[in-house]
Amino acid sequence: MTSSLADRAALLRTLRVAHGLTQADLVEATKISQAALSKAERAREDLDSDRWAALERALAVPSGSFADAPVARSDARVFHRKQKTTPETALKRIRAELDLTSLRASQLLGTSATSPRLRRRSLPEDGFDTPADIAALVRRDLDVAAGPIGDLTAVVEAAGVVVLTADLDSAQVDAIAGWPDETVPIILVSRHTSAERQRFTLAHELGHAVMHDTAASPLHEQQADAFASAFLMPEREFRRDWAGSDLDALLRLKRLWRVSLGAVIRRAFDLDLVSDREYRGLNVTLATTGMRRREPEPLAVEIPTMLRRAVEDALSRGVTAEQLARSAYMLEPEFRATFLEDPHHA
Ligand SMILES: [Zn+2]
Repeated sequence: MTSSLADRAALLRTLRVAHGLTQADLVEATKISQAALSKAERAREDLDSDRWAALERALAVPSGSFADAPVARSDARVFHRKQKTTPETALKRIRAELDLTSLRASQLLGTSATSPRLRRRSLPEDGFDTPADIAALVRRDLDVAAGPIGDLTAVVEAAGVVVLTADLDSAQVDAIAGWPDETVPIILVSRHTSAERQRFTLAHELGHAVMHDTAASPLHEQQADAFASAFLMPEREFRRDWAGSDLDALLRLKRLWRVSLGAVIRRAFDLDLVSDREYRGLNVTLATTGMRRREPEPLAVEIPTMLRRAVEDALSRGVTAEQLARSAYMLEPEFRATFLEDPHHA
């Protein structure tokens, strides 16, 4: 074994929880005793190689994965965007999924990973008054041209952040993002929301990454939303394009800025372009006409390309899919399905 027990233990916990398995499930599948499994997960006591091999089979990872377990990393800053009350077990599971995906991404990107171009900015300490000020600064940091952002996913990837869509329904979150100090930052965005909401969520997570240190409080959530709104719809240009609050004019802005109708209306309200009464009236219209749930004139979903390109590059250099799968702690069929076949996942 080239890995340390602590590294094997960390990989074991991450794989088990990411797959939604309990220790009892693994005991059942491997016939390893509960006590031995529990000690191995806490890096108290090692298992013999037969038992590690049994765990590899049960967890569907290539044989030898635990011997080559990666060096366990320190905890990243993690933010998730909840829709409703999220059960703690579901949250643990998507955190493990995030860890696993982050591990896979850094293995696959290897040296081709671009170091993140995001700089930390904090509110009053750095002399900024509002999240909108910071949003303007981050647009500059990332060389975003004035006006609407065409492909936000491409902008975020160019900043060195891995973006992937994932099934986050069980946890009822829109996204989960991890910002480790030493490896690539990663954002998992729910596959089952509209393109408009995915874009807003990406911008929201960017806001956390730049402004916040710890898991989000309600104030942090408001700040991240304000950041996202200003990042996607900068004030000066939004005001210039404003042509009143009738539905056609609002839909034109939605198409132009590539956000939801609700986000346009909210931005207009925050900039005092509509009155409190108009704002409430517009929200009633969105709710009663079903436009809140089903976005009118929906945008096409953005497709992340960074990992897919890295995989294709490696294949063109003669690295085999099996080698790549092994480095990502995946069996080849799962690897192919994840990174080579489904454009919505890679
Ligand atoms: Zn948030």
